[in-house]
Amino acid sequence: MQPFDYVKPKTLEEASALLLQHNGQARPFAGCTDLLIRIERGFLHPDVVVDIKALPGMREVAVQPDGHLRIGAAATMNQVALHPAVLERWPLLAEGCASVASYQLRNRATVGGNLCNASPAADSAPALLCYEAVAHIFGPAGQRSVPLEQFFLGPGKTVLERGELLTAITVPPPAPGAVGHFLKLGRTAVGDISVVSVAVLGWPDLGAPSGTSWHIALGAVAPTPIRAAEAERLLGQDASPAGVEAASRAAAAAARPIDDIRASAAYRTDMVRVLTRRGVERVLAEMRAS
Ligand SMILES: Cc1cc2nc3c(=O)[nH]c(=O)nc-3n(C[C@H](O)[C@H](O)[C@H](O)COP(=O)(O)OP(=O)(O)OC[C@H]3O[C@@H](n4cnc5c(N)ncnc54)[C@H](O)[C@@H]3O)c2cc1C
Repeated sequence: MQPFDYVKPKTLEEASALLLQHNGQARPFAGCTDLLIRIERGFLHPDVVVDIKALPGMREVAVQPDGHLRIGAAATMNQVALHPAVLERWPLLAEGCASVASYQLRNRATVGGNLCNASPAADSAPALLCYEAVAHIFGPAGQRSVPLEQFFLGPGKTVLERGELLTAITVPPPAPGAVGHFLKLGRTAVGDISVVSVAVLGWPDLGAPSGTSWHIALGAVAPTPIRAAEAERLLGQDASPAGVEAASRAAAAAARPIDDIRASAAYRTDMVRVLTRRGVERVLAEMRAS
């Protein structure tokens, strides 16, 4: 493996300045479960890695006074998946984070690294899209925030510009009575990267014709994790079995998957339909039981 320098800045300003130097050859370093593999395989050749874990607030997970959940970008998957407030109020996110790899890997892998890596299969992303999370960024021009839905530009590409780093993700409180589930299909039952993933969040809504409103997000079936807007709209109109089937087909139609070593595009598309239907049926059953 090619050698590189390791630096551990203490302030965001120092980290940003380090990322600006080195002519684009400095990389943020969080859990390093993605980064190290890419360096070792020769896909990336950084001169320096900038460890962001000691920066202020980077490792904290807390509910803010306004009720929003704040996840420091270097909080680990296990920190989020096992956090009592996340389990109680944002359980869909806990499911997504708990589905990543193994317990050991989740002790290193961070939510920020998962998002900044910008894999279409990032397992924290669909839940965060359903909850309408916001990404907070620090860089040479100061702070800025973007809705997570606008954060991803394509495989491996985000809105982050040179010198910028993700500092936190905030997640608004879900609507009262919201129920969510994350359905992940990998090549093995646990521990594998998603071949397809579907996050479903539904809640009672007397203003909607079906009496329910929905957010649905898909992973590993498009260049970025995406929301399935037409499926959400159809379920708001009609959550009967026929409506659920129509929405599941609309979710499949929103997918733009590729054929790769892990699955064909046709299989992925059909699995979006199946997992969406299963997820919606499960959410509806739990909403009716509560
Ligand atoms: C065996 C194995 C199994 C895996 N299984 C899964 C799985 O089931 N689901 C899944 O989603 N992923 C999986 N992954 C991928 C990986 O573990 C996750 O994407 C992880 O969350 C990455 O986090 P990290 O902290 O290790 O990121 P790092 O490797 O440290 O960084 C990843 C990328 O993001 C950049 N970066 C990191 N933090 C920031 C920041 N705050 N601001 C700007 N840029 C930043 C880095 O420079 C790098 O380019 C697996 C990986 C391995 C090795």
